[in-house]
Amino acid sequence: MRTLLLTTLMCLSLWGDAHIFVYHRFGESLHSSTNTSIKVLKKHFEYFKTHGYKVVSLDRLNRALKNGDSIPDKWVVLSIDDSYKSFYENGLELFKEYSYPFTLFVYVEATEKRYGDFMSWEQIRESSKYGEIALHSYAHHHMVGMSERENISDTQKSYDIFQSKMGYAPDYYAYPYGEYSDKTEKIIKNFHFKLIMNQNAGAVNRYSNPYDLDRIALTGDVNLKAKLHIKVLKSKWIEPKNYPKDGYLKRIHAKIATSIQRAQYYISGYGWNYIKVNGGDINITVNKKLKFSRNRLFLKSGNYQSSIILVKN
Ligand SMILES: [Zn+2]
Repeated sequence: MRTLLLTTLMCLSLWGDAHIFVYHRFGESLHSSTNTSIKVLKKHFEYFKTHGYKVVSLDRLNRALKNGDSIPDKWVVLSIDDSYKSFYENGLELFKEYSYPFTLFVYVEATEKRYGDFMSWEQIRESSKYGEIALHSYAHHHMVGMSERENISDTQKSYDIFQSKMGYAPDYYAYPYGEYSDKTEKIIKNFHFKLIMNQNAGAVNRYSNPYDLDRIALTGDVNLKAKLHIKVLKSKWIEPKNYPKDGYLKRIHAKIATSIQRAQYYISGYGWNYIKVNGGDINITVNKKLKFSRNRLFLKSGNYQSSIILVKN
Protein backbone atom coordinates (compact mmCIF):
# COMPACT_ATOMS: atom_id res chain seq x y z
CA MET A 1 0.00 0.00 0.00
CA ARG A 2 2.78 2.33 1.04
CA THR A 3 4.75 1.55 -2.14
CA LEU A 4 1.68 2.11 -4.26
CA LEU A 5 1.08 5.46 -2.58
CA LEU A 6 4.70 6.49 -3.08
CA THR A 7 4.63 5.45 -6.75
CA THR A 8 1.40 7.39 -7.28
CA LEU A 9 2.88 10.47 -5.64
CA MET A 10 6.03 10.19 -7.76
CA CYS A 11 4.02 9.88 -10.97
CA LEU A 12 1.89 12.88 -10.10
CA SER A 13 4.95 14.97 -9.28
CA LEU A 14 6.32 14.31 -12.77
CA TRP A 15 3.51 16.45 -14.12
CA GLY A 16 4.81 19.93 -13.62
CA ASP A 17 2.27 22.58 -12.84
CA ALA A 18 3.83 25.96 -12.19
CA HIS A 19 1.85 28.99 -11.07
CA ILE A 20 1.84 32.60 -12.20
CA PHE A 21 0.44 34.86 -9.52
CA VAL A 22 -0.74 38.43 -9.90
CA TYR A 23 -0.63 41.17 -7.27
CA HIS A 24 -1.93 44.72 -7.58
CA ARG A 25 -1.55 47.10 -4.62
CA PHE A 26 0.69 46.67 -1.58
CA GLY A 27 0.01 47.93 1.94
CA GLU A 28 -3.02 50.00 0.87
CA SER A 29 -5.75 48.79 3.19
CA LEU A 30 -8.28 51.28 1.79
CA HIS A 31 -8.39 49.27 -1.45
CA SER A 32 -9.19 45.85 0.00
CA SER A 33 -10.20 44.16 -3.26
CA THR A 34 -6.83 44.75 -4.91
CA ASN A 35 -4.53 45.02 -1.91
CA THR A 36 -1.96 42.71 -0.36
CA SER A 37 -0.60 43.84 2.99
CA ILE A 38 3.15 43.68 3.52
CA LYS A 39 2.57 41.23 6.37
CA VAL A 40 0.73 38.87 4.00
CA LEU A 41 3.31 39.38 1.24
CA LYS A 42 6.03 38.37 3.68
CA LYS A 43 3.95 35.33 4.65
CA HIS A 44 3.74 34.31 0.96
CA PHE A 45 7.48 34.80 0.44
CA GLU A 46 8.34 32.82 3.58
CA TYR A 47 6.01 30.05 2.42
CA PHE A 48 7.75 29.88 -0.97
CA LYS A 49 11.15 29.87 0.73
CA THR A 50 10.43 27.25 3.37
CA HIS A 51 8.48 24.90 1.07
CA GLY A 52 11.06 24.68 -1.71
CA TYR A 53 9.32 26.91 -4.28
CA LYS A 54 11.59 28.63 -6.77
CA VAL A 55 10.49 32.08 -7.86
CA VAL A 56 11.54 32.42 -11.50
CA SER A 57 11.24 35.24 -14.02
CA LEU A 58 8.69 35.23 -16.82
CA ASP A 59 11.68 35.10 -19.17
CA ARG A 60 12.73 31.78 -17.61
CA LEU A 61 9.22 30.38 -17.98
CA ASN A 62 9.05 31.64 -21.56
CA ARG A 63 12.28 29.83 -22.46
CA ALA A 64 11.03 26.59 -20.92
CA LEU A 65 7.69 26.86 -22.79
CA LYS A 66 9.34 27.64 -26.11
CA ASN A 67 11.84 24.76 -25.71
CA GLY A 68 9.05 22.38 -24.73
CA ASP A 69 10.89 21.62 -21.48
CA SER A 70 9.04 20.08 -18.59
CA ILE A 71 8.13 22.76 -16.10
CA PRO A 72 8.91 22.12 -12.46
CA ASP A 73 5.97 21.90 -10.10
CA LYS A 74 7.80 24.17 -7.70
CA TRP A 75 8.17 27.10 -10.08
CA VAL A 76 6.35 30.29 -9.19
CA VAL A 77 6.21 33.45 -11.31
CA LEU A 78 5.20 36.72 -9.65
CA SER A 79 3.52 39.45 -11.66
CA ILE A 80 2.17 42.84 -10.64
CA ASP A 81 -0.51 44.67 -12.63
CA ASP A 82 -1.18 48.39 -13.01
CA SER A 83 2.15 49.78 -11.74
CA TYR A 84 0.64 51.36 -8.63
CA LYS A 85 2.95 53.60 -6.64
CA SER A 86 2.46 51.34 -3.62
CA PHE A 87 4.52 48.65 -5.36
CA TYR A 88 7.46 51.02 -5.53
CA GLU A 89 6.91 52.47 -2.07
CA ASN A 90 5.85 49.37 -0.10
CA GLY A 91 6.27 46.15 -2.08
CA LEU A 92 9.56 46.41 -3.95
CA GLU A 93 11.71 46.35 -0.81
CA LEU A 94 10.52 42.84 0.07
CA PHE A 95 11.09 41.55 -3.47
CA LYS A 96 14.64 42.90 -3.16
CA GLU A 97 15.12 41.35 0.28
CA TYR A 98 14.20 37.88 -1.00
CA SER A 99 15.81 38.45 -4.42
CA TYR A 100 12.54 37.40 -6.04
CA PRO A 101 12.15 38.46 -9.68
CA PHE A 102 8.86 39.96 -10.84
CA THR A 103 7.13 41.26 -13.95
CA LEU A 104 5.47 44.63 -13.65
CA PHE A 105 2.67 45.26 -16.16
CA VAL A 106 2.44 48.99 -16.81
CA TYR A 107 -0.83 50.87 -17.29
CA VAL A 108 0.79 53.38 -19.61
CA GLU A 109 -1.73 56.25 -19.57
CA ALA A 110 -1.67 56.41 -15.75
CA THR A 111 2.10 56.75 -15.71
CA GLU A 112 2.25 59.03 -18.74
CA LYS A 113 -0.35 61.44 -17.30
CA ARG A 114 1.08 61.09 -13.78
CA TYR A 115 -2.13 59.92 -12.11
CA GLY A 116 -1.55 60.23 -8.35
CA ASP A 117 -1.69 56.54 -7.44
CA PHE A 118 0.75 55.35 -10.06
CA MET A 119 4.50 55.06 -10.53
CA SER A 120 6.48 57.51 -12.64
CA TRP A 121 8.66 56.36 -15.54
CA GLU A 122 11.73 57.04 -13.34
CA GLN A 123 10.34 54.70 -10.66
CA ILE A 124 9.52 52.06 -13.29
CA ARG A 125 13.02 52.28 -14.72
CA GLU A 126 14.47 51.99 -11.20
CA SER A 127 12.29 48.89 -10.61
CA SER A 128 13.55 47.35 -13.85
CA LYS A 129 16.89 46.73 -12.12
CA TYR A 130 15.16 44.01 -10.09
CA GLY A 131 12.48 42.68 -12.42
CA GLU A 132 10.95 42.74 -15.88
CA ILE A 133 8.68 45.49 -17.17
CA ALA A 134 5.83 44.69 -19.55
CA LEU A 135 2.65 46.12 -21.05
CA HIS A 136 -0.87 46.40 -19.61
CA SER A 137 -2.49 48.59 -22.32
CA TYR A 138 -2.65 52.36 -22.69
CA ALA A 139 -6.06 53.33 -21.32
CA HIS A 140 -6.98 50.18 -19.35
CA HIS A 141 -10.25 49.78 -21.25
CA HIS A 142 -12.65 46.87 -21.16
CA MET A 143 -11.26 45.64 -24.50
CA VAL A 144 -14.05 43.24 -25.38
CA GLY A 145 -16.48 46.14 -25.68
CA MET A 146 -14.20 48.16 -27.95
CA SER A 147 -13.91 48.09 -31.73
CA GLU A 148 -10.99 46.41 -33.46
CA ARG A 149 -9.66 49.80 -34.55
CA GLU A 150 -9.80 51.17 -31.00
CA ASN A 151 -8.01 48.14 -29.58
CA ILE A 152 -5.25 48.26 -32.18
CA SER A 153 -4.78 51.99 -31.64
CA ASP A 154 -4.69 51.63 -27.80
CA THR A 155 -2.13 48.85 -28.00
CA GLN A 156 0.03 50.64 -30.58
CA LYS A 157 0.04 53.82 -28.52
CA SER A 158 1.07 52.02 -25.33
CA TYR A 159 3.67 49.98 -27.23
CA ASP A 160 5.29 53.08 -28.76
CA ILE A 161 5.33 55.08 -25.52
CA PHE A 162 6.72 52.08 -23.62
CA GLN A 163 9.48 51.68 -26.18
CA SER A 164 10.47 55.34 -26.10
CA LYS A 165 10.45 55.53 -22.27
CA MET A 166 12.10 52.16 -21.58
CA GLY A 167 14.41 51.93 -24.59
CA TYR A 168 13.17 48.48 -25.65
CA ALA A 169 9.97 46.86 -26.88
CA PRO A 170 7.76 45.07 -24.33
CA ASP A 171 7.92 41.26 -24.47
CA TYR A 172 4.75 40.47 -22.54
CA TYR A 173 1.18 41.73 -22.39
CA ALA A 174 -1.54 41.34 -19.73
CA TYR A 175 -5.18 42.12 -20.62
CA PRO A 176 -6.80 44.90 -18.54
CA TYR A 177 -9.18 43.25 -16.01
CA GLY A 178 -8.08 39.90 -17.49
CA GLU A 179 -10.91 40.32 -20.01
CA TYR A 180 -10.53 39.03 -23.56
CA SER A 181 -12.25 37.27 -26.41
CA ASP A 182 -11.18 35.48 -29.60
CA LYS A 183 -11.08 38.86 -31.35
CA THR A 184 -8.97 40.72 -28.77
CA GLU A 185 -6.57 37.77 -28.54
CA LYS A 186 -5.99 37.95 -32.29
CA ILE A 187 -5.31 41.70 -32.14
CA ILE A 188 -2.81 41.41 -29.29
CA LYS A 189 -1.08 38.41 -30.89
CA ASN A 190 -0.39 40.56 -33.98
CA PHE A 191 1.96 42.68 -31.87
CA HIS A 192 4.23 39.61 -31.51
CA PHE A 193 4.48 39.55 -27.74
CA LYS A 194 6.36 36.50 -26.47
CA LEU A 195 3.68 35.77 -23.87
CA ILE A 196 0.12 36.99 -23.22
CA MET A 197 -1.47 36.75 -19.77
CA ASN A 198 -5.09 36.41 -18.77
CA GLN A 199 -6.46 36.22 -15.24
CA ASN A 200 -8.23 32.86 -15.32
CA ALA A 201 -7.32 31.03 -12.14
CA GLY A 202 -5.27 28.11 -13.44
CA ALA A 203 -1.82 26.55 -13.46
CA VAL A 204 0.78 26.39 -16.23
CA ASN A 205 2.50 23.33 -17.68
CA ARG A 206 4.58 22.53 -20.76
CA TYR A 207 1.44 22.27 -22.90
CA SER A 208 0.06 25.69 -21.93
CA ASN A 209 -0.65 28.16 -24.73
CA PRO A 210 1.97 30.96 -24.40
CA TYR A 211 -0.60 33.44 -25.75
CA ASP A 212 -3.24 32.51 -23.20
CA LEU A 213 -1.51 31.96 -19.89
CA ASP A 214 -3.56 31.68 -16.73
CA ARG A 215 -2.67 33.76 -13.70
CA ILE A 216 -4.02 33.45 -10.18
CA ALA A 217 -4.83 36.67 -8.31
CA LEU A 218 -3.44 36.96 -4.79
CA THR A 219 -5.29 39.69 -2.94
CA GLY A 220 -6.19 39.86 0.72
CA ASP A 221 -5.20 36.96 2.96
CA VAL A 222 -5.85 34.20 0.39
CA ASN A 223 -5.25 30.51 0.99
CA LEU A 224 -1.92 30.36 -0.83
CA LYS A 225 -1.47 26.64 -0.18
CA ALA A 226 -4.76 25.85 -1.95
CA LYS A 227 -3.80 28.06 -4.91
CA LEU A 228 -0.46 26.25 -5.19
CA HIS A 229 -2.33 22.94 -5.40
CA ILE A 230 -4.25 23.99 -8.52
CA LYS A 231 -3.24 21.82 -11.47
CA VAL A 232 -3.79 22.12 -15.19
CA LEU A 233 -6.88 20.29 -16.40
CA LYS A 234 -5.91 19.54 -19.98
CA SER A 235 -9.03 20.58 -21.85
CA LYS A 236 -10.37 21.76 -25.16
CA TRP A 237 -13.33 24.13 -24.84
CA ILE A 238 -15.56 23.68 -27.87
CA GLU A 239 -18.60 25.62 -26.72
CA PRO A 240 -19.00 28.42 -25.67
CA LYS A 241 -16.11 30.33 -27.21
CA ASN A 242 -17.46 33.82 -26.58
CA TYR A 243 -20.30 35.55 -24.72
CA PRO A 244 -23.49 34.34 -26.45
CA LYS A 245 -25.25 37.07 -28.48
CA ASP A 246 -28.58 36.63 -26.68
CA GLY A 247 -26.94 36.26 -23.26
CA TYR A 248 -28.15 32.66 -22.88
CA LEU A 249 -25.60 29.95 -22.27
CA LYS A 250 -27.12 26.98 -24.00
CA ARG A 251 -24.45 24.33 -23.74
CA ILE A 252 -21.03 23.51 -22.34
CA HIS A 253 -19.05 21.26 -24.63
CA ALA A 254 -15.43 20.36 -23.86
CA LYS A 255 -12.95 17.52 -24.16
CA ILE A 256 -10.89 16.47 -21.17
CA ALA A 257 -8.72 13.42 -20.33
CA THR A 258 -10.57 10.16 -21.02
CA SER A 259 -9.60 8.81 -17.60
CA ILE A 260 -11.79 11.36 -15.80
CA GLN A 261 -15.26 10.04 -15.04
CA ARG A 262 -16.58 12.69 -12.74
CA ALA A 263 -16.08 16.42 -12.91
CA GLN A 264 -17.69 19.67 -11.81
CA TYR A 265 -18.61 22.76 -13.75
CA TYR A 266 -19.16 26.28 -12.50
CA ILE A 267 -20.88 29.32 -13.98
CA SER A 268 -20.61 32.73 -12.25
CA GLY A 269 -23.68 33.24 -10.09
CA TYR A 270 -24.84 29.63 -10.40
CA GLY A 271 -22.24 27.75 -8.33
CA TRP A 272 -20.82 24.27 -8.83
CA ASN A 273 -22.52 21.22 -10.34
CA TYR A 274 -21.34 17.63 -10.60
CA ILE A 275 -21.38 15.90 -13.97
CA LYS A 276 -20.57 12.43 -15.26
CA VAL A 277 -18.00 12.34 -18.04
CA ASN A 278 -18.04 9.72 -20.77
CA GLY A 279 -14.80 9.04 -22.60
CA GLY A 280 -13.47 12.53 -21.91
CA ASP A 281 -16.48 14.22 -23.49
CA ILE A 282 -18.42 16.86 -21.58
CA ASN A 283 -21.50 17.92 -23.46
CA ILE A 284 -24.25 19.30 -21.30
CA THR A 285 -27.34 21.39 -21.89
CA VAL A 286 -27.28 24.38 -19.58
CA ASN A 287 -29.87 26.90 -20.85
CA LYS A 288 -29.06 29.62 -18.36
CA LYS A 289 -29.12 33.37 -18.71
CA LEU A 290 -25.68 34.69 -17.88
CA LYS A 291 -25.97 36.92 -14.82
CA PHE A 292 -23.06 39.29 -15.34
CA SER A 293 -21.32 41.24 -18.08
CA ARG A 294 -18.25 39.21 -17.13
CA ASN A 295 -18.73 35.51 -16.35
CA ARG A 296 -16.33 32.75 -15.45
CA LEU A 297 -16.81 29.14 -16.44
CA PHE A 298 -14.79 26.43 -14.71
CA LEU A 299 -14.30 22.73 -15.27
CA LYS A 300 -12.72 20.90 -12.37
CA SER A 301 -11.80 17.41 -11.29
CA GLY A 302 -10.10 17.30 -7.91
CA ASN A 303 -7.32 19.88 -8.01
CA TYR A 304 -7.27 19.88 -11.81
CA GLN A 305 -9.08 22.86 -13.27
CA SER A 306 -9.56 24.86 -16.45
CA SER A 307 -11.52 28.06 -16.92
CA ILE A 308 -12.58 30.62 -19.50
CA ILE A 309 -14.05 34.10 -19.26
CA LEU A 310 -17.11 35.28 -21.20
CA VAL A 311 -17.34 39.06 -21.50
CA LYS A 312 -20.34 40.87 -22.95
CA ASN A 313 -19.45 43.21 -25.78
ZN1 LIG B 1 -5.15 46.23 -14.49
